[in-house]
Amino acid sequence: MSFTWRQFREDEFWKKIPLWKDVDYKTFIDHKWQEKNAITNHKKLLRIIQDLVDKDVLEDAKNGFLRGPMAIRVSPYLLSLISWETPITCPIRRQFLPLASQLQPDHPMLRFDSLNEQVDSPVKGLTHRYEDKALFLALDTCPVYCRFCTRSYAVGSNTVTAEKVSIKASRGRWADVFDYIRRTPQLEDIVISGGDSYRLKASQIKEIGDELLKIDHIRRFRFATKGPAAMPMKILTDGAWTNAIASLANKARNHYKEVCIHTHFNHVNEITNITKDAMDLLFLKGVKVRNQSVFQRGVNDTPEDMIELVKKLSHMNVQSYYVYVHDLVQGTEDMRTSVQTALDVEKHVRGATAGFNTPTFVVDAPDGGGKRCAHSFEHYDRETGISVYTAPSVKPGQKFLYFDPLHSLTKDKQIAWTKKEFQEEMVRNVLRAVK
Ligand code: SF4
Repeated sequence: MSFTWRQFREDEFWKKIPLWKDVDYKTFIDHKWQEKNAITNHKKLLRIIQDLVDKDVLEDAKNGFLRGPMAIRVSPYLLSLISWETPITCPIRRQFLPLASQLQPDHPMLRFDSLNEQVDSPVKGLTHRYEDKALFLALDTCPVYCRFCTRSYAVGSNTVTAEKVSIKASRGRWADVFDYIRRTPQLEDIVISGGDSYRLKASQIKEIGDELLKIDHIRRFRFATKGPAAMPMKILTDGAWTNAIASLANKARNHYKEVCIHTHFNHVNEITNITKDAMDLLFLKGVKVRNQSVFQRGVNDTPEDMIELVKKLSHMNVQSYYVYVHDLVQGTEDMRTSVQTALDVEKHVRGATAGFNTPTFVVDAPDGGGKRCAHSFEHYDRETGISVYTAPSVKPGQKFLYFDPLHSLTKDKQIAWTKKEFQEEMVRNVLRAVK
């Protein structure tokens, strides 16, 4: 056995990018250098990779960018980890750089904000769906922009195909959020997200944390960030940010409360010795890290890829918590899988390691049903690709439908989904089957 998940790459992988061939380790792990050199427009990105890929791939990428709903932002760290010898199949490239030739038409049942987060928002930027938990969108920017982002309705700047709802970091808006949390005693658990907590300043982490710690009924909160996967060096070189999180976690512990980080690794290729050092530092400082992956076609939709990821995360003391069946997000149909694929992979993952490090595979039920265990459907018509979930503790009496991607269905069913009358009939039939 080779125990590959215990090995971490230590090479200077960024030097294969011509622009960064002379950048030394000390510079590369400086979070300010990473921020300053993040790639934020497709022309610059194409210039950087022009000597690494052939002209067809460059053209394909250019056309892909023009059709995506997300603004562009990629860290030098992630861009260097893309396998430029095999960009078509590279699991990191697939998550951040769309190729027009791989894009597929959206599912006809897709809507912007498919999880209905804005409908369940009593205050702008706060989603209160589960009785004791709320999601606080503190800001609308991230260290990277993922093409599959569920929150593409708000995250990043407007693109040719998407106009965004504004949830900028602002004291006035935050005050309304804290007010709501204060006067809602059933709330115990707050997720601070965005955007991404990595982009909150150390002083803002402290401000939000202190405010929440003062509220008696709040027992736990977590900072959600893709940062450890996108730019792990920040934890090592931005002492102010890391110490702000660590002192908050310690302060919370003294109040018998929990503050932790929820992060978002999708594939082992995102993990290097820099990641390991960063996770070790958080561990030493007493900050618990859990991981939530998105289940993606061509990224982590095989038992081998998912088991390797889960075991590597465990090795770094990062606990695998959820694997989300990919939401219906504009422009990402090529990345979605069927619920059945998730069930098949989950069967292999369970038993590969300790139960507490084994993620639960969930469907985040479209229209605001919340996270449902992927197995817990009331009915699943594999031919039409419709699964039906209920959420008695979230929205009693309602039914929530998830739709498998069209590419996972037979040609006949794909054609049926293009016709309005058949769409309605398929939905009617599946709802009838649940009764
Ligand atoms: S980091 Fe998170 S919130 Fe930001 S674009 Fe990626 S998935 Fe969306």
